[in-house]
Parts: sequence; structure tokens; C-alpha cells
Amino acid sequence: MKKIGIIGGGFTGTMTAVQLIYKSTEPFEIILINERETLNKGIAYNPYSNKHLLNVIAGKMSAYPDKPDHFLDWVMKKEIFIKKDKTLIANSFLPRQVYGEYLFDIWEEAKEEAESKQIKLTVIESFVIDLDTSEDIISLWLDNNQKLNVDECVIATGNHIPRNPRIKNMDFYNSPNYFQNPWKIESVKDTKENLPILIVGNGLTMVDTVLGLLEQGFKGEIYSISPNGFNILPHRHNGLKYSKLVEELQDNMNIYELVKLINKHIKTVREYGVSAEPIIDSLRPQTQKIWKSFTDHEKELFMSRLRHLWGVARHRIPLHSHDKIQQLRIDGKLHINSGKIIDITELNESITVQYFDKKENGIKAINVSRIINCTGPETDLANLDKSFLKNCLLKGILTQDKLKIGIKADTESFQIINSDGKPHTNLYTIGSNLKGELWESTAVNELRGQAEKLAKKLKAKMLIHKD
Ligand SMILES: Cc1cc2nc3c(=O)[nH]c(=O)nc-3n(C[C@H](O)[C@H](O)[C@H](O)COP(=O)(O)OP(=O)(O)OC[C@H]3O[C@@H](n4cnc5c(N)ncnc54)[C@H](O)[C@@H]3O)c2cc1C
Repeated sequence: MKKIGIIGGGFTGTMTAVQLIYKSTEPFEIILINERETLNKGIAYNPYSNKHLLNVIAGKMSAYPDKPDHFLDWVMKKEIFIKKDKTLIANSFLPRQVYGEYLFDIWEEAKEEAESKQIKLTVIESFVIDLDTSEDIISLWLDNNQKLNVDECVIATGNHIPRNPRIKNMDFYNSPNYFQNPWKIESVKDTKENLPILIVGNGLTMVDTVLGLLEQGFKGEIYSISPNGFNILPHRHNGLKYSKLVEELQDNMNIYELVKLINKHIKTVREYGVSAEPIIDSLRPQTQKIWKSFTDHEKELFMSRLRHLWGVARHRIPLHSHDKIQQLRIDGKLHINSGKIIDITELNESITVQYFDKKENGIKAINVSRIINCTGPETDLANLDKSFLKNCLLKGILTQDKLKIGIKADTESFQIINSDGKPHTNLYTIGSNLKGELWESTAVNELRGQAEKLAKKLKAKMLIHKD
């Protein structure tokens, strides 16, 4: 019986397995490998707080590309939502924990389907620590000392923990008062009141961390720092669809022509009191195509000059979360800085952070009791600590794009490309590992379609081998 291994059981790995189960007509075995805590939820949908909300409205969060209301319909059957207005819920930002429950239900249903079709489903609660390819077999080594051979293997490893910012005293990162993983509850628990806390990064995870600290009863001051300060926008133009820009879009426009076109439309909407977000949203269905048409130089330009502005327009938060953050700033509880950390030292559990303050154009220092890293997922595999992906990179099994934001792969077949430039016949990747190829390859909006497409390809391959 053919064995398909899936490394990572977050949204992407789970939905690839689910789609395979529903599409398949032949018996085979799926082996899904993921630690217990995040199984079927991944990092995003296993939050430690119900204050951590989806950043996409419920009406757009279906796990299936061909059933747009699947999540909404599931939600409306839940006791706490049953009497609520459906349009209101469709346009609301629900807790990510609810989405985790949704994925769990999808998985349970798919398990029954698998049983009825004699598809063997093996879940291994473990972590892959190495991978090798030989002939038609992929070998996997797990941290429970198990070794497995599979015929096809999908790498759906998603978001890696953030990289440690470069400072003079890198030893600081061994401190128990430093939290590299901001998605774990330990990062906000058992805080000391006498000194403030520093959050490195000013994106969506910073907002979650502030809410998490407050929920855990932290009453002290919170500092945050990032190169650009706080630029998160609330969702303001819910439902506004702008089409004029896309009508004027032409194939193979270079980055300068695109920026000119975008700026022209931003100017137009501003005259009517509307800001740039609906314009960037209108580009979303075209983004992957545009990214693929860019030269390496254009991609580099985008990353160095436009990435931040793009992120601001794309990654918004619900209005009430935004209000909360602004109120904390007004109350003097949250201090947001733009700048760069130079060094961090720790003495008797008091941490001194020396940083360059952009606004004041000088070096400043603050004393804090802990530091939480919210700088966003690491994408350069060479920087990962003890990862099978890093080993695969060193062995030439996979390569990275020039910007080191993903794994090189064929975006039609999802086959990983090795260091000789050849696609593997049986090793695939999807999800955020494809950011280098597609740029927008992070949200459910993109990933549900990838999971379905890959499952179709794997099914077709199984049928060919049967004949
Ligand atoms: C905090 C956060 C909130 C988000 N909120 C939203 C949102 O509201 N809406 C939206 O559309 N998108 C959101 N996203 C984007 C998110 O990346 C996708 O929606 C989706 O969850 C990604 O799923 P994934 O399975 O690819 O990755 P992940 O969720 O990161 O899951 C990957 C899984 O692989 C496992 N894994 C990794 N390495 C190994 C290994 N070596 N062996 C075995 N298992 C391994 C991990 O333990 C993890 O469970 C959010 C992302 C984050 C980080």
C-alpha cells in the first residue's frame, strides 16, 4: 500500500490530508506527523487566549476553496452563535480558538470517511529531525527515534519561530527571561510587576502579546520596538471593493510602472476620503502572478522599499483591538518606539536594553524584566536551529530563493527543486514555504486552494502507478 507522509499537521498539512481522503478512490496510507499540542491547529489556531482573533472575517475563512460558506455555516450551528445575526457573524473577527475547533471537527469527519474507504490514517505525535531521499523512497527520522520510509512526502512545516535579533551579546538569548517563541503562553505568564516588559516587533503578534499580558494580570508598563514603530491599521473599509486598478493592470508591468499605477489610484480614492487598503486588497488575486513576473532585482527592491508599506495595508486588525492598543498608549501603559536594538545585558534579573531611537536620533536605554520576540516567523532555513530543513539545505535536497523567504519549488506541481535545479518526483512543499515563489502564500485564502490542488495531483499519481 502506498504511503504518503505529511510533515506538519497545522492548517496546511491537515487540509492536504483531508482533501486526499475525500478525493481518493484507492486504499493507501497517510502518515501525518505533528506534535500533540498543535495537531490539526498549527501555530495560528492553537492560541493561548480567546482574545486572539482571526484577522480575516468569518465569511472568508472556509477551509474549502469550493465551499465558501463552510466555516460560517459551521459557526452558525454552534450554540453560542445560533441566535446571532448571520450577516454580523459573517463580518466578524472570531477567536482563533474557534477556528481550531472547526479544523478539529473537519479532521474527525475526515477520519470517518477514511475508515469507510479503507484509507489507513496514522498520526505520529512527534517531530521530524532529518530527511533523506533515495531512489523512490523518502526516509524520515523522528525525535522519538522512529525511522519511516514513505513513497511521497509533503513538507507543510508552516511558521518557524522568530530569529534572535543580532546584538553584541548574543549569550543573552540563553536567559530564562527571554522568550523567543511568542505563541506559547509561557511568554506572558509569571511576570514581575516591578519592571516593564519589552516586546521586540510591532506587528500582529505584538498586539496578541499585549492582550495576553493584560489577560494574565500584568499591570506594569510595556515597551515595544521595531524599525518602523506602530503602523497597524484597523479594518476600516469592510466590504468596499475597488476594481479600477485591476482594469488598468497589464501583463509584465515592471515594479516602477506598478507603483506609479498604485499611487495614481491611491490619490483618486483619497479624494473621496478612502485610504489605500481597498486598493491593495483589489490586487490580492493578482499578487502571485505579479510576483512571479518580477525579476530578482525587482523582488529585492520590493523587499527593501515596499514590503513594510505592503504589510501595513495587508495585515490589519479588528477595530476594537486597535482601539484597545491606542487607549493603552494614551494611558501611558504602552510605549511604542521606532529604532534598533544595539545590545542587551542582564544583571540580577534586570535587563538593560540599549537601542537607537529613531525619533530622538540617539542611543537610549531601558530596564525591563523580560523580552518577548514578536519579530515574525524566520524564513531563512540556514538560521534555523536543529531543523531537518536546514539539513536538507546543506545536503542539496532543497534550495532557497535568492531572498531566502522560502523553498524553491514548481508552483504547479509543488515539487521541491534540488540543488541541481531538478524537481524531486516525490517531495513536495506548500504553504509559507512557497513565499519566495508566490509572495502571498500565508493565509487560509491561499492555502486551502494549494491543499486541494496538491491532493488532486497526488491522487492522479496514485492512479497512474496503479495502471
Ligand atoms: C499567529 C498567527 C495568526 C494567524 N492568523 C491568521 C488568520 O486569522 N487568518 C488567516 O487566513 N491566516 C492567518 N495566519 C496565517 C497562517 O500562517 C495560516 O492561516 C495557516 O495557519 C498556516 O498553516 P500551516 O499549517 O501552513 O502552518 P502552521 O500553522 O505554522 O503549522 C505548521 C505545523 O507544522 C509543525 N511542524 C513544523 N516542523 C515540523 C517538523 N519538523 N516535524 C513535524 N511537525 C512540524 C508545527 O508544529 C505546526 O503544527 C496566522 C498566522 C499566525 C502565525
